[in-house]
Amino acid sequence: MFLNFSAASFGNSEISPAQIAVDAVIKAMQLCEQVQVEMVSTDAIQKTDRSPVTVADFGSQALICKAIGDAFPNDVIVAEESAQALQENASLLERVTDYVNPFFKDTPHSAETVCEWIDRGSGEVGPNFWTLDPIDGTKGFLRRDQYAIALAHIIDGTVQLGILGCPNLPYRLNNGNAEHGCLFVAIRGEGTRLYTKTGDFIEQVHVSETARRFAESVESTHGDSDAHSSIANALGITESPVRMDSQAKYGIVSRGEASLYIRLPNPDYPGYRECIWDHAAGLIVVEEAGGTVTDANGSPLNFLTGKRMRENRGIVATNGKLHQSVLKALAKL
Ligand code: AMP
Ligand code: MG
Repeated sequence: MFLNFSAASFGNSEISPAQIAVDAVIKAMQLCEQVQVEMVSTDAIQKTDRSPVTVADFGSQALICKAIGDAFPNDVIVAEESAQALQENASLLERVTDYVNPFFKDTPHSAETVCEWIDRGSGEVGPNFWTLDPIDGTKGFLRRDQYAIALAHIIDGTVQLGILGCPNLPYRLNNGNAEHGCLFVAIRGEGTRLYTKTGDFIEQVHVSETARRFAESVESTHGDSDAHSSIANALGITESPVRMDSQAKYGIVSRGEASLYIRLPNPDYPGYRECIWDHAAGLIVVEEAGGTVTDANGSPLNFLTGKRMRENRGIVATNGKLHQSVLKALAKL
Protein backbone atom coordinates (compact mmCIF):
# COMPACT_ATOMS: atom_id res chain seq x y z
CA MET A 1 0.00 0.00 0.00
CA PHE A 2 1.62 3.25 -1.10
CA LEU A 3 0.50 6.24 0.90
CA ASN A 4 2.14 8.95 -1.16
CA PHE A 5 3.86 10.74 1.69
CA SER A 6 6.01 13.71 1.09
CA ALA A 7 9.61 12.70 1.70
CA ALA A 8 10.64 16.34 2.10
CA SER A 9 11.18 16.20 5.84
CA PHE A 10 13.48 13.22 5.46
CA GLY A 11 15.58 14.25 2.47
CA ASN A 12 14.02 13.04 -0.75
CA SER A 13 14.67 9.32 -0.67
CA GLU A 14 12.42 7.46 -3.10
CA ILE A 15 10.46 5.61 -0.47
CA SER A 16 10.23 7.75 2.63
CA PRO A 17 11.00 6.43 6.10
CA ALA A 18 7.37 7.16 6.91
CA GLN A 19 6.26 4.82 4.15
CA ILE A 20 8.51 2.01 5.36
CA ALA A 21 7.39 2.49 8.95
CA VAL A 22 3.69 2.64 8.02
CA ASP A 23 3.96 -0.55 5.96
CA ALA A 24 5.57 -2.31 8.93
CA VAL A 25 2.84 -1.12 11.32
CA ILE A 26 0.14 -2.31 8.90
CA LYS A 27 1.70 -5.78 8.88
CA ALA A 28 1.95 -5.78 12.66
CA MET A 29 -1.75 -4.84 12.89
CA GLN A 30 -2.58 -7.83 10.68
CA LEU A 31 -0.51 -10.14 12.87
CA CYS A 32 -2.18 -8.84 16.05
CA GLU A 33 -5.65 -9.30 14.62
CA GLN A 34 -4.82 -12.84 13.54
CA VAL A 35 -3.53 -13.71 17.02
CA GLN A 36 -6.57 -12.11 18.64
CA VAL A 37 -8.91 -14.34 16.65
CA GLU A 38 -7.01 -17.55 17.37
CA MET A 39 -5.54 -16.85 20.80
CA VAL A 40 -5.17 -19.69 23.31
CA SER A 41 -4.47 -19.24 27.02
CA THR A 42 -0.76 -20.14 26.69
CA ASP A 43 -0.26 -17.29 24.19
CA ALA A 44 -0.02 -14.81 27.09
CA ILE A 45 2.60 -14.92 29.86
CA GLN A 46 3.52 -12.62 32.75
CA LYS A 47 6.69 -10.57 32.69
CA THR A 48 8.81 -10.17 35.80
CA ASP A 49 6.92 -6.91 36.58
CA ARG A 50 3.73 -9.03 36.42
CA SER A 51 2.45 -7.20 33.33
CA PRO A 52 1.20 -9.45 30.51
CA VAL A 53 2.95 -10.05 27.18
CA THR A 54 1.59 -12.15 24.33
CA VAL A 55 2.59 -13.91 21.13
CA ALA A 56 1.29 -10.82 19.35
CA ASP A 57 3.56 -8.38 21.26
CA PHE A 58 6.62 -10.42 20.23
CA GLY A 59 5.39 -10.95 16.66
CA SER A 60 4.58 -7.27 16.18
CA GLN A 61 8.01 -6.23 17.50
CA ALA A 62 9.76 -8.79 15.26
CA LEU A 63 8.05 -7.50 12.09
CA ILE A 64 8.59 -3.82 12.82
CA CYS A 65 12.20 -4.14 14.04
CA LYS A 66 13.09 -6.23 10.99
CA ALA A 67 11.64 -3.62 8.64
CA ILE A 68 13.27 -0.65 10.38
CA GLY A 69 16.58 -2.45 10.93
CA ASP A 70 16.81 -3.54 7.27
CA ALA A 71 15.90 -0.11 5.89
CA PHE A 72 17.95 2.00 8.32
CA PRO A 73 20.76 -0.19 9.66
CA ASN A 74 22.37 2.73 11.48
CA ASP A 75 19.23 3.76 13.35
CA VAL A 76 18.71 2.71 16.96
CA ILE A 77 15.42 1.14 18.08
CA VAL A 78 14.24 1.33 21.69
CA ALA A 79 11.36 -1.12 22.02
CA GLU A 80 9.44 -2.49 24.94
CA GLU A 81 10.03 -6.24 24.60
CA SER A 82 13.12 -8.45 24.49
CA ALA A 83 13.51 -12.03 23.23
CA GLN A 84 14.81 -13.27 26.56
CA ALA A 85 11.46 -14.59 27.83
CA LEU A 86 10.95 -16.34 24.49
CA GLN A 87 14.30 -18.06 24.58
CA GLU A 88 13.20 -19.68 27.85
CA ASN A 89 9.87 -20.85 26.39
CA ALA A 90 10.28 -22.98 23.25
CA SER A 91 6.56 -23.46 22.56
CA LEU A 92 5.84 -19.73 22.79
CA LEU A 93 8.78 -18.99 20.48
CA GLU A 94 7.42 -21.52 18.00
CA ARG A 95 4.02 -19.80 18.07
CA VAL A 96 5.62 -16.40 17.47
CA THR A 97 7.67 -17.78 14.56
CA ASP A 98 4.55 -19.38 13.07
CA TYR A 99 2.73 -16.03 13.11
CA VAL A 100 5.68 -14.09 11.69
CA ASN A 101 6.60 -16.43 8.82
CA PRO A 102 3.46 -15.99 6.67
CA PHE A 103 4.68 -12.42 6.06
CA PHE A 104 7.75 -13.88 4.30
CA LYS A 105 6.10 -16.48 2.08
CA ASP A 106 9.14 -17.34 -0.03
CA THR A 107 11.71 -17.52 2.74
CA PRO A 108 10.60 -18.92 6.08
CA HIS A 109 12.83 -17.70 8.89
CA SER A 110 14.17 -19.60 11.88
CA ALA A 111 13.15 -18.96 15.47
CA GLU A 112 16.69 -17.64 16.10
CA THR A 113 16.27 -15.07 13.33
CA VAL A 114 12.95 -13.95 14.78
CA CYS A 115 14.66 -13.48 18.18
CA GLU A 116 17.42 -11.47 16.49
CA TRP A 117 14.80 -9.16 14.95
CA ILE A 118 13.06 -8.69 18.32
CA ASP A 119 16.37 -7.82 19.95
CA ARG A 120 17.08 -5.14 17.35
CA GLY A 121 14.80 -3.21 19.71
CA SER A 122 17.28 -3.27 22.59
CA GLY A 123 18.94 0.03 21.70
CA GLU A 124 19.49 3.02 23.95
CA VAL A 125 18.02 6.50 23.72
CA GLY A 126 20.26 8.88 21.75
CA PRO A 127 20.33 11.57 19.05
CA ASN A 128 18.48 9.50 16.41
CA PHE A 129 16.26 6.63 17.47
CA TRP A 130 12.94 4.92 16.99
CA THR A 131 10.78 3.91 19.89
CA LEU A 132 8.24 1.11 19.64
CA ASP A 133 5.48 -0.28 21.77
CA PRO A 134 4.54 -3.39 19.75
CA ILE A 135 1.24 -3.61 21.64
CA ASP A 136 0.39 -0.66 23.82
CA GLY A 137 -2.49 -1.64 26.09
CA THR A 138 -1.83 -5.38 26.19
CA LYS A 139 -4.56 -5.62 28.84
CA GLY A 140 -7.00 -4.09 26.35
CA PHE A 141 -5.78 -6.52 23.69
CA LEU A 142 -6.49 -9.45 26.03
CA ARG A 143 -9.98 -8.06 26.75
CA ARG A 144 -10.53 -7.70 22.97
CA ASP A 145 -10.82 -4.00 23.59
CA GLN A 146 -8.62 -1.12 22.44
CA TYR A 147 -4.87 -1.44 21.88
CA ALA A 148 -2.33 0.31 19.67
CA ILE A 149 0.86 -0.43 17.82
CA ALA A 150 2.89 2.69 18.51
CA LEU A 151 6.03 3.67 16.59
CA ALA A 152 7.84 7.01 16.71
CA HIS A 153 11.05 8.43 15.24
CA ILE A 154 12.85 10.91 17.50
CA ILE A 155 15.67 13.12 16.23
CA ASP A 156 17.56 15.35 18.67
CA GLY A 157 14.80 14.88 21.21
CA THR A 158 11.95 15.94 18.90
CA VAL A 159 9.40 13.43 17.65
CA GLN A 160 9.45 13.76 13.85
CA LEU A 161 7.12 10.90 12.93
CA GLY A 162 4.47 9.05 14.91
CA ILE A 163 2.29 6.14 13.86
CA LEU A 164 -0.55 4.66 15.88
CA GLY A 165 -2.15 1.50 14.51
CA CYS A 166 -5.43 0.90 16.36
CA PRO A 167 -7.05 -2.24 14.92
CA ASN A 168 -10.16 -2.10 17.11
CA LEU A 169 -10.84 1.64 17.02
CA PRO A 170 -14.02 2.61 15.09
CA TYR A 171 -13.76 5.32 12.42
CA ARG A 172 -16.02 7.37 14.69
CA LEU A 173 -16.72 6.76 18.37
CA ASN A 174 -20.35 6.34 19.51
CA ASN A 175 -21.34 4.86 16.20
CA GLY A 176 -21.92 1.16 16.76
CA ASN A 177 -22.04 0.53 13.02
CA ALA A 178 -18.82 2.31 12.22
CA GLU A 179 -16.14 0.16 10.65
CA HIS A 180 -12.99 -0.18 12.67
CA GLY A 181 -9.27 -0.31 12.23
CA CYS A 182 -7.62 3.12 12.33
CA LEU A 183 -4.11 4.20 11.47
CA PHE A 184 -2.96 7.66 12.59
CA VAL A 185 0.15 9.02 10.88
CA ALA A 186 1.70 12.30 12.00
CA ILE A 187 4.72 13.87 10.32
CA ARG A 188 6.24 16.98 11.90
CA GLY A 189 5.03 20.02 9.98
CA GLU A 190 2.63 18.00 7.80
CA GLY A 191 -0.31 17.36 10.10
CA THR A 192 -1.99 14.16 11.24
CA ARG A 193 -3.74 11.89 8.79
CA LEU A 194 -6.16 9.08 9.49
CA TYR A 195 -6.11 5.95 7.32
CA THR A 196 -7.94 2.64 7.39
CA LYS A 197 -6.04 -0.33 8.75
CA THR A 198 -5.09 -1.25 5.20
CA GLY A 199 -3.72 2.22 4.47
CA ASP A 200 -6.57 3.93 2.60
CA PHE A 201 -6.74 7.64 3.36
CA ILE A 202 -9.80 8.68 5.39
CA GLU A 203 -9.15 12.28 6.43
CA GLN A 204 -6.80 14.86 7.83
CA VAL A 205 -7.71 15.11 11.51
CA HIS A 206 -7.99 18.16 13.77
CA VAL A 207 -8.63 18.67 17.44
CA SER A 208 -11.98 20.15 18.45
CA GLU A 209 -12.39 23.32 20.48
CA THR A 210 -15.91 22.33 21.47
CA ALA A 211 -15.59 18.67 22.52
CA ARG A 212 -16.85 18.24 26.08
CA ARG A 213 -15.34 14.91 27.07
CA PHE A 214 -12.10 13.80 28.64
CA ALA A 215 -10.26 10.51 28.25
CA GLU A 216 -8.47 8.39 30.83
CA SER A 217 -7.13 4.85 31.13
CA VAL A 218 -9.41 1.86 31.73
CA GLU A 219 -6.92 0.56 34.28
CA SER A 220 -7.55 2.40 37.56
CA THR A 221 -3.93 1.88 38.69
CA HIS A 222 -2.59 3.69 35.60
CA GLY A 223 -3.94 7.06 36.75
CA ASP A 224 -5.76 8.96 39.46
CA SER A 225 -9.39 8.99 38.41
CA ASP A 226 -10.56 11.07 41.42
CA ALA A 227 -8.10 13.80 40.56
CA HIS A 228 -9.00 13.53 36.85
CA SER A 229 -12.67 14.09 37.77
CA SER A 230 -11.80 17.11 39.92
CA ILE A 231 -9.95 18.67 37.00
CA ALA A 232 -12.85 17.94 34.65
CA ASN A 233 -15.27 19.54 37.13
CA ALA A 234 -13.08 22.61 37.43
CA LEU A 235 -13.25 22.94 33.64
CA GLY A 236 -17.02 22.46 33.59
CA ILE A 237 -16.80 19.12 31.78
CA THR A 238 -19.83 17.17 32.95
CA GLU A 239 -19.95 14.25 30.52
CA SER A 240 -18.65 10.91 31.77
CA PRO A 241 -15.07 10.16 30.71
CA VAL A 242 -14.08 8.03 27.75
CA ARG A 243 -12.19 5.17 29.37
CA MET A 244 -9.95 3.57 26.81
CA ASP A 245 -6.77 1.48 26.79
CA SER A 246 -3.61 2.51 24.99
CA GLN A 247 -2.55 5.56 22.98
CA ALA A 248 -5.84 5.30 21.09
CA LYS A 249 -6.70 8.03 23.66
CA TYR A 250 -4.33 10.41 21.85
CA GLY A 251 -6.06 9.38 18.63
CA ILE A 252 -9.49 10.44 19.87
CA VAL A 253 -8.14 13.79 21.10
CA SER A 254 -6.50 14.33 17.70
CA ARG A 255 -9.75 13.82 15.85
CA GLY A 256 -11.84 15.92 18.19
CA GLU A 257 -13.79 13.26 20.08
CA ALA A 258 -12.31 14.34 23.40
CA SER A 259 -10.75 17.65 24.38
CA LEU A 260 -8.46 16.26 27.08
CA TYR A 261 -6.51 13.10 27.90
CA ILE A 262 -5.27 13.23 31.46
CA ARG A 263 -2.99 10.77 33.26
CA LEU A 264 -1.86 11.70 36.76
CA PRO A 265 0.25 9.30 38.81
CA ASN A 266 -1.85 6.87 40.81
CA PRO A 267 -1.59 7.67 44.56
CA ASP A 268 -0.31 4.13 45.16
CA TYR A 269 2.57 4.71 42.70
CA PRO A 270 3.52 8.36 43.27
CA GLY A 271 7.01 7.85 41.83
CA TYR A 272 5.79 6.27 38.59
CA ARG A 273 7.55 7.65 35.54
CA GLU A 274 6.05 7.11 32.11
CA CYS A 275 7.82 5.07 29.39
CA ILE A 276 8.82 6.87 26.17
CA TRP A 277 7.10 4.27 23.93
CA ASP A 278 3.79 4.92 25.73
CA HIS A 279 3.69 8.59 24.65
CA ALA A 280 6.06 9.57 21.81
CA ALA A 281 3.79 8.57 18.89
CA GLY A 282 0.68 9.87 20.66
CA LEU A 283 2.31 13.22 21.36
CA ILE A 284 2.99 14.04 17.71
CA VAL A 285 -0.43 12.72 16.63
CA VAL A 286 -2.07 15.30 18.93
CA GLU A 287 0.40 18.13 18.29
CA GLU A 288 0.14 17.86 14.51
CA ALA A 289 -3.66 17.88 14.81
CA GLY A 290 -3.43 21.26 16.57
CA GLY A 291 -3.28 20.13 20.20
CA THR A 292 -0.78 20.44 23.03
CA VAL A 293 0.96 17.78 25.15
CA THR A 294 2.96 18.39 28.33
CA ASP A 295 3.42 16.73 31.67
CA ALA A 296 1.24 17.67 34.66
CA ASN A 297 3.55 20.58 35.52
CA GLY A 298 3.31 22.02 32.03
CA SER A 299 6.83 20.90 31.08
CA PRO A 300 7.54 19.45 27.64
CA LEU A 301 8.00 15.67 27.56
CA ASN A 302 11.70 14.88 27.58
CA PHE A 303 12.39 11.74 25.54
CA LEU A 304 16.14 11.82 26.17
CA THR A 305 16.35 10.76 29.82
CA GLY A 306 16.21 7.02 29.10
CA LYS A 307 13.38 4.52 28.63
CA ARG A 308 11.43 6.34 31.30
CA MET A 309 10.79 10.07 31.28
CA ARG A 310 12.52 10.74 34.57
CA GLU A 311 12.01 14.50 34.47
CA ASN A 312 8.28 14.37 33.77
CA ARG A 313 5.34 13.56 36.01
CA GLY A 314 1.93 12.70 34.57
CA ILE A 315 0.58 13.58 31.13
CA VAL A 316 -1.81 16.28 29.88
CA ALA A 317 -2.87 16.17 26.21
CA THR A 318 -5.45 18.73 25.12
CA ASN A 319 -7.01 20.47 22.15
CA GLY A 320 -4.61 23.32 22.92
CA LYS A 321 -7.31 25.79 23.90
CA LEU A 322 -7.96 24.05 27.23
CA HIS A 323 -4.32 23.53 28.12
CA GLN A 324 -3.60 26.50 30.36
CA SER A 325 -6.89 26.04 32.24
CA VAL A 326 -6.00 22.40 32.92
CA LEU A 327 -2.57 23.35 34.22
CA LYS A 328 -4.08 26.07 36.44
CA ALA A 329 -6.62 23.61 37.83
CA LEU A 330 -3.81 21.11 38.44
CA ALA A 331 -1.79 23.70 40.35
CA LYS A 332 -4.76 24.18 42.70
CA LEU A 333 -5.34 20.45 43.35
P1 AMP B 1 -3.15 2.45 29.31
O1 AMP B 1 -3.61 1.49 28.27
O2 AMP B 1 -3.38 3.88 28.96
O3 AMP B 1 -3.66 2.09 30.67
O4 AMP B 1 -1.58 2.37 29.35
C1 AMP B 1 -0.88 1.17 29.30
C2 AMP B 1 0.52 1.43 29.79
O5 AMP B 1 0.47 1.80 31.15
C3 AMP B 1 1.41 0.24 29.75
O6 AMP B 1 2.11 0.22 28.53
C4 AMP B 1 2.37 0.46 30.91
O7 AMP B 1 3.64 0.84 30.45
C5 AMP B 1 1.77 1.64 31.66
N1 AMP B 1 1.70 1.48 33.12
C6 AMP B 1 1.95 0.39 33.88
N2 AMP B 1 1.81 0.68 35.19
C7 AMP B 1 1.47 1.99 35.28
C8 AMP B 1 1.22 2.89 36.37
N3 AMP B 1 1.25 2.50 37.64
N4 AMP B 1 0.91 4.19 36.06
C9 AMP B 1 0.84 4.59 34.79
N5 AMP B 1 1.09 3.79 33.72
C10 AMP B 1 1.39 2.50 33.96
MG1 MG C 1 2.49 0.39 26.52
